[in-house]
Amino acid sequence: MNKFSSAVLILSSTLLFACGQQEATNEPAPAAADSGSESALQAAEQIESEYMREIIKEISQDSYEGRGPGSRGDVKARLYLAERLAELGLEPAAADDSWEQPFDLVGVNSAQPDEWVFNGADDSLTLKQWEQFIVGSGIQEESAGLTDAELVFVGYGIQAPEFDWDDYKGVDLNGKVLLMMNNDPDWDPELFAGDTRLWYGRWDYKYLSAARQGAVGAIIIHTSKSAGYPFQVVQTSWTGVQFELPAGDEPRSPVKGWVTEDSARELVAMAGFDLDALREQADNRDFTPVPLGITTSINMDVEIQRVQSANILGLIPGSDPELKDEVVIYTAHHDHLGIGTPNEEGDAIYNGAFDNATGVAQVMVIAKAIKALPEAPRRSVLIALVGAEEQGLLGSEYYAANPTFAPGKIAANINYDGGNVWGHTHDVTYIGLGKSSIDQIATMVAKEQGRVVKADQFSDKGYFYRSDQFSFAKIGVPAMYLDTGTDFVDRSPEWGREQQNHYTEVNYHQPSDEYDPNWNLDGMVDDAKLGYWTGLAIANSDLLPVWNTGDEFEQLRLDALAPVE
Ligand SMILES: [Zn+2]
Repeated sequence: MNKFSSAVLILSSTLLFACGQQEATNEPAPAAADSGSESALQAAEQIESEYMREIIKEISQDSYEGRGPGSRGDVKARLYLAERLAELGLEPAAADDSWEQPFDLVGVNSAQPDEWVFNGADDSLTLKQWEQFIVGSGIQEESAGLTDAELVFVGYGIQAPEFDWDDYKGVDLNGKVLLMMNNDPDWDPELFAGDTRLWYGRWDYKYLSAARQGAVGAIIIHTSKSAGYPFQVVQTSWTGVQFELPAGDEPRSPVKGWVTEDSARELVAMAGFDLDALREQADNRDFTPVPLGITTSINMDVEIQRVQSANILGLIPGSDPELKDEVVIYTAHHDHLGIGTPNEEGDAIYNGAFDNATGVAQVMVIAKAIKALPEAPRRSVLIALVGAEEQGLLGSEYYAANPTFAPGKIAANINYDGGNVWGHTHDVTYIGLGKSSIDQIATMVAKEQGRVVKADQFSDKGYFYRSDQFSFAKIGVPAMYLDTGTDFVDRSPEWGREQQNHYTEVNYHQPSDEYDPNWNLDGMVDDAKLGYWTGLAIANSDLLPVWNTGDEFEQLRLDALAPVE
């Protein structure tokens, strides 16, 4: 796996960025990338598992208390990581020579009522909190609720002019509670990218969409297929303190909830509807909202707290006097869920060893390798260990709104969230494959590793929109999120998927996501090397990566490049 020719570095500096229609921004500069490939190979040897193991073990210990944003454990992890970056010789890259880019978070802790009553014409249905529904406040105030509001089934709750799709059809939904399906239409490859989940299929889009209609509440119908995870994940992720960036002037609904599929079935049945029939209607462009003849009230006391977390930023300044103003940004989130609902064994610490101590470790070891180069890459490299990801990509969103390099100067983002702890693979997952010219580099590097790059192998789960690269894509930055492959060396073809599905079902966002000394980090070494070489190629190239023509983020990039051209 380590027999590397200099081909990647040489080729990447000259030919790799030709596929997009737009002109890249830089005048061709003398290629420095091909020199020093021998030393780049040597530096790559810094990428080994013991260094990563040490970091994973450290920050997933119980003493870090699950690294919940703003908690003692969060502070402790930030200090530890900044110290390790300093030890590697990076420069503090936040304002005032600090390692920390602080940001405020508003913690919203809703006292969920035990029961939620829905009244039909001559019947009522009472749902039980936890087993049947999960609810929270959508506003940053001391109480939230709604009174005698009418329930309307709105299908997917999507308005997408580019697909000629509008589930609302101009119906007045002000003051209503919207009952919505998760995901987006998935049966037609021409429509919402087939079974690939787009932003429209995400819960955060759903709540925003409902709020834009003036709805006072939105309830998403959970199915494991449409969410990509079991209801258990909704239960653990949506109870306790929910952090947000401070509210701006965006629309918000006071009540945001989830119900299980069975509860939704009972609920609509009370009003004489069949859930499957409603969903079938919703799979149609002609669908119009269906008032259910059900009303409901709910009220919650809400505890509001204000805390601070921070992104940890470390810089390796570029060696080229011109290009050093541009940057390749590696990200991994350092936070996890903190202390929460105990599991059956009474363990309440959500250690987040896999999610995301492994990603942090990969980015740290890449930093170590880049620092081992005799000369820094031409462009600068920023290591951004971002906070509050689990609460909705908040740290990276804050960075994207307050970047230390102008968006048009950010060459690319390479993100890690969850490493491969099961061994070498023949493949590697590149979430975002097919979207930008980074594809060509990553594909070539993987080939040198004797591996193949595969697109998201669980594309229905919408992973591109579920980790920090999405925050960068939203400001136009071409982005790659590297994830574990599924085709493991010397294992049956199904084995890898089984491991990952098992992790999702048993350990994902649970106290049992703990460090396991039996983890085999060989695959993480390979994946970190892939990110190292890819980032190096981008940092040393004459040209900037571009989104593929017609990509959903292409226009944002052109807008970002305009002021710096
Ligand atoms: Zn994560």
